[in-house]
Amino acid sequence: MKYKRILLKLSGEALAGEKKYGISTDVLDAIATEIKLVHEQGVEIGIVIGAGNIFRGVAASAEGMDRASSDYMGMLATCMNALALQDALEKKSVETRVQSAIKMDQVSELYIRRKAIRHLEKKRIVIFAAGIGSPYFTTDTTAALRAMEIGADVLLKATRVKGVYDKDPEKFDDAKFYDNLDYIQILNQGLKVMDSTAVSLSMDHKLPMIVFNLHETGNIARIVNGEKIGTHIS
Ligand code: UDP
Repeated sequence: MKYKRILLKLSGEALAGEKKYGISTDVLDAIATEIKLVHEQGVEIGIVIGAGNIFRGVAASAEGMDRASSDYMGMLATCMNALALQDALEKKSVETRVQSAIKMDQVSELYIRRKAIRHLEKKRIVIFAAGIGSPYFTTDTTAALRAMEIGADVLLKATRVKGVYDKDPEKFDDAKFYDNLDYIQILNQGLKVMDSTAVSLSMDHKLPMIVFNLHETGNIARIVNGEKIGTHIS
């Protein structure tokens, strides 16, 4: 195995499927199957989940809502996704823990780094909810931060397309695909992979990232076994 501990970043949108909003149980089940496959190989897995399928702070603030308040709503929405993913994984007998950056004793543990690492060592999947617990950040930045905190070998960012392109491949047929990228290229070219905070944090701390297509069955397992899938960022 090339990677023994991974941090998987799932966007909220990935859970919505065709519906474009909310949570599709079929999609959730398919994602849980993919994750279970990798878990069975003995890989330690942390997951950060977004909330674009429910609520995005920046979108609400564009319509006049206070940015910090709307970001807190976005963070709460990630908790709903985290619980849904936990349910899907546990239905497949995969042991999980949700750790939230915002205290909510009745539904999840609070994020405690050393406890999260202990869970991983015990082969429990840890789902990190509520972002980093602060407004003005994204779950991509959360993913980079948590990846470093838990000592993940790589950050795997799941998308709908093969990896990173110079422009949106769903809109432009001539979009150029990148096999490999430097962090600085992403920042200089303004490539739409992750927000600049997430990219610069990963760059400063040399966290390798792979952007890959979640909808191709077996991709996570292939990556973990060292196959060259998606765009590699280093
Ligand atoms: N958010 C935040 N702080 C964080 C992480 C997330 O305020 O540390 C809020 C922010 O409003 C964001 C929303 O939660 O829009 C959902 O996260 P994101 O947009 O990253 O989800 P994704 O695009 O991955 O579905």
